[in-house]
Amino acid sequence: MSLRPEDLTELVERAAERERASPDRYPIESVSELFRSGLLIAPFPGSLGGDGWTPLDAVRAIEMLSAAAPSTALVAAMPLGLAGIYGAGADVAPPEYRAAWIAQTERVAADYRSRRLYAACNSEAGAGGSLAATKTVARSVGKGDWRITGTKILASSGANADMFLSTAKVSQEDLPGAGVVEFFYVPTHAPGVEIANDWDGFGMRATESQSVHYEDAPASEICGFPNFIEVVQPVTYWYCLFAAIPLGCATGILNALSVPAPASPAIRLRLADARMKQEAMSAYLYETAAAWRPAAGPAYAARVLRMKTYVSAEATKLCAELFALSGGRHYRRDGVVARLLADSFAGTALRPPLSLALDMLVEGFEG
Ligand SMILES: Cc1cc2nc3c(=O)[nH]c(=O)nc-3n(C[C@H](O)[C@H](O)[C@H](O)COP(=O)(O)OP(=O)(O)OC[C@H]3O[C@@H](n4cnc5c(N)ncnc54)[C@H](O)[C@@H]3O)c2cc1C
Repeated sequence: MSLRPEDLTELVERAAERERASPDRYPIESVSELFRSGLLIAPFPGSLGGDGWTPLDAVRAIEMLSAAAPSTALVAAMPLGLAGIYGAGADVAPPEYRAAWIAQTERVAADYRSRRLYAACNSEAGAGGSLAATKTVARSVGKGDWRITGTKILASSGANADMFLSTAKVSQEDLPGAGVVEFFYVPTHAPGVEIANDWDGFGMRATESQSVHYEDAPASEICGFPNFIEVVQPVTYWYCLFAAIPLGCATGILNALSVPAPASPAIRLRLADARMKQEAMSAYLYETAAAWRPAAGPAYAARVLRMKTYVSAEATKLCAELFALSGGRHYRRDGVVARLLADSFAGTALRPPLSLALDMLVEGFEG
């Protein structure tokens, strides 16, 4: 493997510098560097330009980025997760779809090599983060072409992306064997794709997480094959990456408060205590991510849900505790520590948002 997560130190520092200098501006130069470094393509196999990164490698890279440049980390998480799912290999597909899956893997990897940015455009207002509650619909117009209609929110990267991965409902007549929803590829600059300019987030200010309206927008193809989301269970890969984001924010605040080492023994003790919590959460996340595989089944899905819920909620609380200890010097709206605190709350909002995750945990417990 030529690129390792630990090789990213300088890239991370430059991304941090850009977010410090322009906290509200989309990190276009950092995204270019993510492409140049080979990070976004890293989970693809070497034969397709990647480095065969495991889910754990991807998690470690997002955690490192997030500790210094959380908006860049969130923007990176979407395409990195998609690369990870393609990196799972040909066996992901049932035999009848295997050749098409391999061909699509090669096409998407070629797009990554030409630095086309893929982004996720799935969430819908009022769906509470639930895929089943998706209202966007896709209809077949023949020859494998589709038209998508619906309204999405919070599509990170917005108009900076080249291709959206979007959930939509599709009828059994149009796609025999379709699941509750399918992922469709929608070129972002096609007619019928309207990307709003309405992002004004509490944190993650630089992500340009915009609303998007599709009106009969052309989709080039579905991702994978019918019932892909249920058969492959790809979303758990993204959940692991999402958990790494607030955890990285906690690490970032801890680092900021630990250098120079505070003179007060009481504060040193609190920081040592925070370090233990952060390491414990890392271990939970790493162990869960290391076990990721496609079609891992309901027990693993439940484990990821617990891990993502626990790590994102506890890491956000840890950020708040550390902020309370940080003193007046850090009490600046645009200060690094205050921004990491605001950014950390994205972890509890990211899919599944905390409210939905808690409902799902209770449902699973009773079942
Ligand atoms: C910074 C940031 C960046 C993001 N980037 C992306 C992105 O790139 N792409 C993307 O697709 N999404 C993105 N998201 C969206 C995110 O992943 C969540 O899916 C989304 O925030 C959920 O918001 P919501 O308004 O749908 O639900 P919420 O506001 O979390 O929930 C609404 C209410 O619905 C209730 N509810 C619970 N379960 C259900 C249910 N089954 N059905 C209906 N209601 C229910 C909840 O209790 C809650 O009170 C981003 C979010 C943030 C904060």
